Amino acid sequence: GNASRVDVADLVEQARAGRPRAVARLISLVEDESPALRDVSAALAPHTGRAHVVGLTGSPGVGKSTTTAALVGALRRRDHRVGVLAVDPTSPFSGGALLGDRIRMSDHATDDGVFIRSMASRGHLGGLSWATPQALRVLDAAGCDVILLETVGVGQSEVEVSGLADTTLVLLAPGMGDGIQAAKAGILEIGDVFVVNKADRDGAQSTRRELRSVLGMAEREADAWSPPIVMTSASRGEGLGDLVEQIDAHREHLAGERLAERRRARFRREIRAIALETVRRRVGDLSGHAALDALAQEVLDGATDPFRAADRVLDEL
Ligand code: GDP
Repeated sequence: GNASRVDVADLVEQARAGRPRAVARLISLVEDESPALRDVSAALAPHTGRAHVVGLTGSPGVGKSTTTAALVGALRRRDHRVGVLAVDPTSPFSGGALLGDRIRMSDHATDDGVFIRSMASRGHLGGLSWATPQALRVLDAAGCDVILLETVGVGQSEVEVSGLADTTLVLLAPGMGDGIQAAKAGILEIGDVFVVNKADRDGAQSTRRELRSVLGMAEREADAWSPPIVMTSASRGEGLGDLVEQIDAHREHLAGERLAERRRARFRREIRAIALETVRRRVGDLSGHAALDALAQEVLDGATDPFRAADRVLDEL
């Protein structure tokens, strides 16, 4: 079909040269699970590993989109090439419309040092885990120094974001209701940098104090990273310089073996997810298959049992 005629090598070359259209096309291919997905992944492999992936998590309304847009500005002022990937695991929509609504990025729309892309998971079983790492690889190969990964909507996607990021920002805001105590179970372990956004609002200092005391209770090894708390007012453009400094500091802390181990852990999960999904699909394809019918007959006859029959299915995959 059409997909097999995609010139993947050419697209990757163009993406590496920074052509926005090639970047967008490659991300569409991975998002749509095109048959070219494998070729895209293979072609990207030699050109990845340079970008620093920064994940933004936090409750809806805390200011993730506003902070993402403000961070792009702060990073551009430092001459970083920046990628933005906004993932909506709940929406069937993707592309321009969602982004226009969700991220106020108009300042950056004509800047060729910024790639902005939103993605929906379109109800894929793999959710974030399937297409998102591939899209990150596209942006990485396109020469992004930093990639901001933001999830839109709610769910357990927070933890998934941290699994894909080198540095995870956990955003809080005063008066969000949920309170730090309620949220702490999930966020304490995943936050590399904590951001108290809406610092212009009453209660920001007490949110900071509460967070500091909760973080202070966590036990850490002597050489472990101690997550800083940064105060920002993203809508006013305040505190973004501090935030970039802490992101840089965390990157420096990771540099070398720590970063390698973080990424190896990510690839272990990713390989397992792909293998599981592949097995699931192949086994699913067996229904109505003669070999499966024959095994069912053997179980019916008492010649074998379902476990041994399943082993034979797996052996033959
Ligand atoms: P998200 O759902 O986490 O992406 O949050 P948004 O970025 O969409 O922000 C939610 C609302 O908070 C919007 O109305 C923003 O304008 C507002 N907001 C974001 N940052 C700040 C801030 O620093 N101060 C104040 N007062 N409002 C903010």
